[in-house]
Amino acid sequence: MNDEESFEEVAARLDDLQGVPIGTLFDLVTREGACMSIDVGAEEPTWTSDRAPDRELAANICAACPVVDECLELEFRTAGFTTLGVWGALAEDDRRAAYLAWLQRRGGGESR
Ligand code: SF4
Repeated sequence: MNDEESFEEVAARLDDLQGVPIGTLFDLVTREGACMSIDVGAEEPTWTSDRAPDRELAANICAACPVVDECLELEFRTAGFTTLGVWGALAEDDRRAAYLAWLQRRGGGESR
């Protein structure tokens, strides 16, 4: 999501993936996702209450990911509003807003 893109535009981008089975999305994301091959080292991350690092992390790791849309579509179908962490280049508060726009486009989630 770039600075000019609205949550509605993010949701609209996913329309073409509506008919793709969840298993196919899962295979694509786990095989092609940029975060799937990152070496994070042996130390656990330091958790903070600051939300800014989430957005920064999403921007950095997801920027070059070839399956951003597939990742978002999968997250919306499987986690929906109860989403946590960084997926599909969006931190959780942004993703919740995009999820609501996505739900509206899908008739309230009937196609899940
Ligand atoms: S969009 Fe981000 S979280 Fe999703 S697979 Fe790609 S790198 Fe991972």
